[in-house]
Parts: sequence; structure tokens; C-alpha cells
Amino acid sequence: MTRRVYFDHSATTPVHPAVVEEMCRFLRDNYGNPTSLHSFGRQARKAVEEAREKVAAALGADPREIVFTSGGTEADNMAIHGVAYTNLNRGNHIITSAVEHHAVLNTVKALGKQGFTITILPVDKYGMVSVEDVAAAITDKTILITIMHANNEVGTIMPIREIGRLAREKGILFHTDAVQSFGKIPVNVDELNVDLLSISGHKIYGPKGIGALYIRKGSRWRQTLFHGGAQEKLRRAGTENTPGIVGLGKATELAMQNMEAEAAHLTRLRDKLIREVTGRISHVSLTGHPVHRLPNHASFCFEFVEGESMLLSLDMQGIAASSGSACTSGSLEPSHVLLAMGIPHEVAHGSIRLTLGRDNTEEDVDYFLEVMPPIVERLRAMSPLDQETEFALSGQCNGCRVSHSCRA
Ligand code: PLP
Repeated sequence: MTRRVYFDHSATTPVHPAVVEEMCRFLRDNYGNPTSLHSFGRQARKAVEEAREKVAAALGADPREIVFTSGGTEADNMAIHGVAYTNLNRGNHIITSAVEHHAVLNTVKALGKQGFTITILPVDKYGMVSVEDVAAAITDKTILITIMHANNEVGTIMPIREIGRLAREKGILFHTDAVQSFGKIPVNVDELNVDLLSISGHKIYGPKGIGALYIRKGSRWRQTLFHGGAQEKLRRAGTENTPGIVGLGKATELAMQNMEAEAAHLTRLRDKLIREVTGRISHVSLTGHPVHRLPNHASFCFEFVEGESMLLSLDMQGIAASSGSACTSGSLEPSHVLLAMGIPHEVAHGSIRLTLGRDNTEEDVDYFLEVMPPIVERLRAMSPLDQETEFALSGQCNGCRVSHSCRA
């Protein structure tokens, strides 16, 4: 039987059995509506508030500053939209970065079409935003800075604390998307100087369809997206997703208990992957920052080969990974993140992301290291870029490589 290895934890994680157990209680037995006054409702309310306390404790926040959402995407939308429309009398300028998740980037771009002025900051070759660039972009009309904590595609951890300090000095609200960092590295809202922060359940061994937005007390933010009931203290209308909220609370608790040991384990596996992949295979480069990166994140660009072809070959060997290229979604454009980092189109097409999780072992890494070199070799031999490869490898040709279409 083929070995099965899951290296796609940045896409989603398996739900922890203890989380499933907690959730089942609220699907099966304690099904009351938390708004109801009777005992069924009161039980659900108690569980929702306990989960809120767990999430708040993990962030160093007050439970009243946590609003449950349907996930990271909604938290990002809610944060950005809410700040934008609450501060219209102060200004209309929003600063973000070119490597944000689409939940942020497309929200900000949509506001650009509604009359807001948008600055999308460039990043360096590691995918890092510079604090100086943020400072230079601020105008007297700036009302919001939204820069992610850690990048989902290349794992780079941004200088959030410094950007937050700057925002605070200037009296500008600062939001960070911490969907990828929460549960993996310390995320404390005071230490990071953030006013709003998004998290998601399914990236931390919790369920899909649940997340939370931290909103610092007193921030100029109000709910602008949903019209409905008074749930979440008028900040998010709609009956609370009690099983999801309970699941997020439990997953948060577990992540906090094991974060340090888990990060050490993941870093060891990650570093072996990076060392051996770049050592054993030619024309491979690490993408993202070599040091300031998530403990579970290894991502690469393999030249002269396409990400999708590698993914399919890995899948046939039982290994689940992902690619930064958007070919699978029907577009030939490679990842906006890799392009923003200055990686040429044709190289960005050969990207692979390996994101480790708490159940991965050294044997999983060894299996990948055994399987990957022959896959790359075979695909390179079949590649239409083969001849150019010959030229490029022998140093006879610089830059004549053509961009090619996706065959996956
Ligand atoms: N932000 C980042 C950085 C992400 O990686 C993701 C999901 O991949 C999201 C936001 C969206 O979160 P959700 O899937 O919970 O909507």
C-alpha cells in the first residue's frame, strides 16, 4: 500500500479528536440556541463564552474584544470594511501589501472601486514588507494599515510589532491577518501593537467555517457587513455556530498547550526538508525568508518544471502538497505572492509548498526526499523547456526561456 503523507497543513488541518468530541456534544445533545433563555440556551451560551475566554487568553485579549465569524475570510472582510466605513470622516486611504491573502487584497481592491485610495506596498525578495515603506506611504488621510502576520504561500513572518508601533504613533488603526501564525508562533495583541486581528479554526486542527476577529476596545470600528439580529453584541448578526465556536475554543486550548514543543518538532523537520531538497536537487531555491519563517513551512521553486505536474506525481506517491501557481483554478497566472517577490513567471510556475503538521514524522520527510528527486528528473526530461534547460545549465543562454502554458 502506498504511504500517505499530508504536507498541506497551511491549506487545512485534520480536526483533533478531542475537538470532534467537544463539537459532537453541541451537535447532538446541547443543541440550544445561545440566545434562548431556557436551560438548553443557557448551556450553549456558557460554552460559547468559555470558548471566547480561551481564544482571548491565547491572544492576550479581553473576551469582550473577540467576535466569532465564519472564518478567516469573514474576519478580514469585517475588519477592513468596518474600519473603512467608520472612519470616512477622517480619511479614505488604506495601506496593504502585495502579498496578502485574497481575503484582504480583494477586499481592499473592492474598496478602491468604491472611492477609497489604496496603496499596495511592494515586498523584498523574501516576501517581506519594509517598515520604512509603510512609513513613507502614510498620509494625513490614512485610516487603516492591514499587513499579514505570516504569509500563507512562502511562510515569511512580517515585522508586525514595528509596523504596529508606527501605526499607533500616527493614530492609524492596524489590522493583521494572523490566520497562518496563530497557534504556531506567539500571537499577543499587545506585543504586536495590533488593533484588529483575524484567525481561523481550520488552520489549527479545529473545524472549517469558524474564525474570530479581535477588535481592540475603543477602536473606531463598527459592523458594516451584516444586517440582522443583535448577536455578538451587535457586531456579527446571525445565530452563533455553537459547535464551531466550541471547536475553535478547544483547538486553541490544545495549540497553546503544545505550541513550544510542536514548533521545535516542526522546525527540525522543516530544516531537514530545506537542507536536503536544496542539497539533493539542482536548480531549486527556497522561497520566503530563510530565518523569519513559520516553523512548519518549506516552499521552493524548481526551475524547468511545473508545479502542477510535480503535485500530481507526488499525489500518485501518496504525498499531498500544494503549489503557488494558480493553474488548478483555471488561470495561467502564477501566484501573485511569488511574482511580487520578483520571481520570474516561468520559475514561479515551478513552485511547491510543503507545510508540516503535528503528526508528521521524520519518516514522512525521508519518504518525500526519496520520492521527489526522481519525479523532478523525469519531469525535467519530458519538459518542453528541456533544450533551454541544456543551454541554461551550460551557461550558454541567459534569459531566452519563454513562458509556457500549464499542462496540468
Ligand atoms: N488569510 C490567510 C493568510 C489564509 O491563509 C487563509 C486561508 O487559507 C485565509 C485568510 C482565509 O481563511 P478561511 O479559510 O478561514 O476563510
